[in-house]
Amino acid sequence: MKLVRGAYMEKERKRAEEKGYPSPIQPDKASSDRDFDAGVSLCIENLDKVSLLVASHNEHSNMLAVDKLKELNIPLNHSHVNFSQLYGMSDNITFNLAEAGCNVSKYLPFGPIEDVIPYLMRRAQENTSVKGQTGRELGLIQKELERRKHS
Ligand SMILES: Cc1cc2nc3c(=O)[nH]c(=O)nc-3n(C[C@H](O)[C@H](O)[C@H](O)COP(=O)(O)OP(=O)(O)OC[C@H]3O[C@@H](n4cnc5c(N)ncnc54)[C@H](O)[C@@H]3O)c2cc1C
Repeated sequence: MKLVRGAYMEKERKRAEEKGYPSPIQPDKASSDRDFDAGVSLCIENLDKVSLLVASHNEHSNMLAVDKLKELNIPLNHSHVNFSQLYGMSDNITFNLAEAGCNVSKYLPFGPIEDVIPYLMRRAQENTSVKGQTGRELGLIQKELERRKHS
C-alpha cells in the first residue's frame, strides 16, 4: 500500500464545487497530517497483513514511521516497510533513512519534457514541507561540502 497525502488538492476542490459534490480534500493541513500519520501507524501495527510504502517528504511523518518501528521492535529494514522521495527532493531525508538501514528509494519520473516539467512543477508547488525544508537542505549540502574540503 502506497500512502501519500495526495496531489491535485486545488483541482479536486474546484471540480467538487463545479460538479456540486462534497470536496474529498481535507479541510486543512493539520487534518491531512493527522490522518496520514494515523495511516502510517495503522499499517505498521499490521505488517502481517500489509506492505507499506511511506511516500512523503515530510520529516515528521518519516520520523514517526521510524519511531513506530523501533517502539514495536520491528527491524527498520523489514521487507514490508519502504520509504520513497522524489529524485531531487528531500535528499537529506532519503540519506538519513538509508543510513539508518531503512529500505528507501528515489522516485524518478521520466518521459517527454512537456509532461515531466509540469509534473515536477506541480509536485514542487504542493510539497509544502519541501518548500520549508529547501533552505535547510541547501544549508546541509553546504555544510557537507565544507566538511569534505577540510577532511
Ligand atoms: C514516491 C512518491 C509517490 C507518489 N505517488 C503519488 C500518487 O500516486 N498520487 C498522489 O496523489 N500523489 C503522489 N505523490 C505525491 C504526494 O501526494 C505528495 O508528495 C504529497 O502530497 C506531499 O506531501 P508530503 O507527505 O510530502 O508532505 P507535506 O509537504 O507536509 O504535505 C503537503 C500535502 O499536505 C496536504 N495539504 C497541504 N495544505 C493543505 C490544506 N490547506 N488542506 C488540506 N490538505 C493540505 C496536501 O495533500 C499537500 O500535497 C507521490 C509522492 C512520492 C514521494
